[in-house]
Amino acid sequence: MNEFSFDVIIVGAGPAGCTAALALSECSLNVALIEKSTFPRDKICGDALSPDVIAQLQKLPIDSSSFIDGFDKKLECKAVRFIAPNYSYSDISLVNYNLSGYISPRIDFDNYLFEQAKQCKNLTIFEGQEISSIEESPTEVRVLMKSGVRLESPIILGSDGAKSLVKRTLHKEKPDKNHYCAGIRMYFEGVTDFSDLNAVELHFYDELLPGYFWIFPLPDNRANVGIGMLSSFVSKKNINLKKELISIIKTHPNVKDRFKNATIVDDAKGFPLPLGSKKRSISGNRYLLLGDAASLINPLSGEGIANAIRSGRVAAEHLIRCHATNRFDAAFNKGYDREIYRRMWNELRLNYWTQVFMRNPRRCNWIIQHAITNSFVKAIVMSGFNAKNAFSKILKK
Ligand SMILES: Cc1cc2nc3c(=O)[nH]c(=O)nc-3n(C[C@H](O)[C@H](O)[C@H](O)COP(=O)(O)OP(=O)(O)OC[C@H]3O[C@@H](n4cnc5c(N)ncnc54)[C@H](O)[C@@H]3O)c2cc1C
Repeated sequence: MNEFSFDVIIVGAGPAGCTAALALSECSLNVALIEKSTFPRDKICGDALSPDVIAQLQKLPIDSSSFIDGFDKKLECKAVRFIAPNYSYSDISLVNYNLSGYISPRIDFDNYLFEQAKQCKNLTIFEGQEISSIEESPTEVRVLMKSGVRLESPIILGSDGAKSLVKRTLHKEKPDKNHYCAGIRMYFEGVTDFSDLNAVELHFYDELLPGYFWIFPLPDNRANVGIGMLSSFVSKKNINLKKELISIIKTHPNVKDRFKNATIVDDAKGFPLPLGSKKRSISGNRYLLLGDAASLINPLSGEGIANAIRSGRVAAEHLIRCHATNRFDAAFNKGYDREIYRRMWNELRLNYWTQVFMRNPRRCNWIIQHAITNSFVKAIVMSGFNAKNAFSKILKK
């Protein structure tokens, strides 16, 4: 009785899933979007929306002014501050390159995207619905939800994040700690001494390499504070990230005074970041993986929202071809992998090698010092934090 058939099932309504739905909104396909949470929902994140996120939003069939002018739960950030292991720092202004970045709590930003997706006429949303099993047959994929509802479709999009059930069930790839980052986030109110340009701050301290401590200003006098560090080093050095974070806030000479009168709004919570620092297979028979499920996070900055949106767009284009040719098999879906890496690999590789180079504190000092004085170094560093357009804009200047 509770069985429905769709042309495509999207699992997960984060940035990748919502934008795949939006990118499919102008075609005639009948689309299902399944989300286990109920919006608005939190997502552990640094909440930084790089200029590349804004560029990606502008490519979707939504009125992007609804975000720039009509969405007030964001703070414009006009610079990125890099603090070196020797505590010297470089501020790179985004304004000089006509770039805009924002910081917006994911509970608000993801809800904005979800509200946009809800307007798609060809979309049926199953919100607050947890999946109990996914099965593949020669002719379709079947999804069974705990509520008893059953959906079937010729193809499924796994946009269900870093712990993707679609990936675990259909793809069976084991996580590789050398290409994973562990991340932990807290919310504070009353952190002081942000720069006039509302710079996002990345503190590259010796003990955290390869990784960094961040302080990002938020609306309403709040701040997102956290640490991200390569998982293999967390294990090797036996680091407790929560203890490390608290210890930096309380004792680090470079920041402790700024937290003197700050109060905790949300305690430390962690989540993994699957990095795009190696090429993988990201599709198979009757499925495509998107965003974090496809491990597309920038290995230098830890930013993954822009590539999640980009993958949503690429997946939608591929899916329309699948239906036009009636091909949903693994060999045909390799075309999706090729297109993803054609658009993203040069940058992911460059950012990975920069991350490797910066593992040594002296080299990290050098890079951050030269990020101001040398256009090429600046372009490399900024490509990790703004992606795509920063590199060319900075080199052209
Ligand atoms: C600590 C930390 C800091 C970060 N900081 C930044 C940053 O500042 N800027 C940035 O750009 N990126 C950042 N990232 C990365 C960013 O959060 C991800 O790259 C981005 O959220 C990926 O989007 P997504 O849509 O692929 O997955 P997600 O945003 O994780 O969305 C997945 C969705 O799928 C749903 N879901 C999961 N399982 C199921 C299921 N079985 N059934 C139905 N639904 C399901 C989830 O509820 C969720 O809504 C950070 C990540 C972490 C962990």
